[in-house]
Amino acid sequence: MYQFTYHRPKSLDEVKKILGDNEEAKLLAGGMTLLPTMKMRLAQPSDLVDISNVDGLSDIQDDGDAIEVGAMVRHADVASSDVVREAMPALAALAEQIGDAQVRNRGTIGGSVANSDPAADYPAAVLGLNAVVRTDRREINADDYFKGLFETALEPGEIIVAIRFPKPKRAAYAKFPNPASRYAVVGVLVAETSDGIRVAVTGAGGCAFRATAMEEALAKDFSAGALEGITVDAADLNSDLHASSEYRAHLVGVMAKRAVLALGG
Ligand SMILES: Cc1cc2nc3c(=O)[nH]c(=O)nc-3n(C[C@H](O)[C@H](O)[C@H](O)COP(=O)(O)OP(=O)(O)OC[C@H]3O[C@@H](n4cnc5c(N)ncnc54)[C@H](O)[C@@H]3O)c2cc1C
Repeated sequence: MYQFTYHRPKSLDEVKKILGDNEEAKLLAGGMTLLPTMKMRLAQPSDLVDISNVDGLSDIQDDGDAIEVGAMVRHADVASSDVVREAMPALAALAEQIGDAQVRNRGTIGGSVANSDPAADYPAAVLGLNAVVRTDRREINADDYFKGLFETALEPGEIIVAIRFPKPKRAAYAKFPNPASRYAVVGVLVAETSDGIRVAVTGAGGCAFRATAMEEALAKDFSAGALEGITVDAADLNSDLHASSEYRAHLVGVMAKRAVLALGG
């Protein structure tokens, strides 16, 4: 029924070799997306490369100016990490809101960011906190990473090793969850970073994007009132059975205001 070869390498070099030797191989992280996709026969990899045993992918490190989260760190571990809670409580709170306990205990940050589901939560944090996606071959700035629906800057066979989040001055995430799956119908992360105000939106479009008109308004006046009348163009947003594009555009405004209010603005 399912015909694939299962690998459980211990080093990144072994992972690269297996991927290099097998064009149809796929990395397996938490399996929360890949396994259902295989069950629906939408993916039929020749090889599954389980990276849960690979050294150095499961750490959370504070290097002073930034927190680096290894690709195999599970959502539950981000949510409960003292290091993350202390330096960027918004990231811990975002992880705490992903799916349900089972999904949080299996799903990984690397798998989520690699998959770039339009309704996933982490893309808002990666973009809003101006993170860097570190791979086995380079570093990709958040602004260059998300390209479209399930499309990222990753090349075939490229492996996310870690995500580095610079510490923000302050940040908050507000999410309107789908009541069944908890995926974001719309989620907005607002951050004051060393490079200025960033407002990142997930759930609304094909991939996470920045709401630049909101960033400009908040840079002049960091208050929910400054966002009055500013939203994003519904024509660019998703429309499905969960929400029309007009409703999503409305939610972007509401979630952005909630995030700003949570920061005292
Ligand atoms: C019922 C349910 C509810 C959910 N609700 C939410 C939610 O509310 N919010 C949310 O954000 N997400 C949600 N998710 C998704 C979940 O959070 C997982 O993070 C997501 O499925 C992918 O992570 P994973 O570790 O399971 O990756 P996998 O399923 O193992 O892999 C996903 C893809 O990424 C690739 N990949 C994995 N790791 C790497 C890597 N290090 N480098 C390069 N490519 C890699 C794989 O080859 C595969 O193509 C939900 C999932 C389910 C099943």
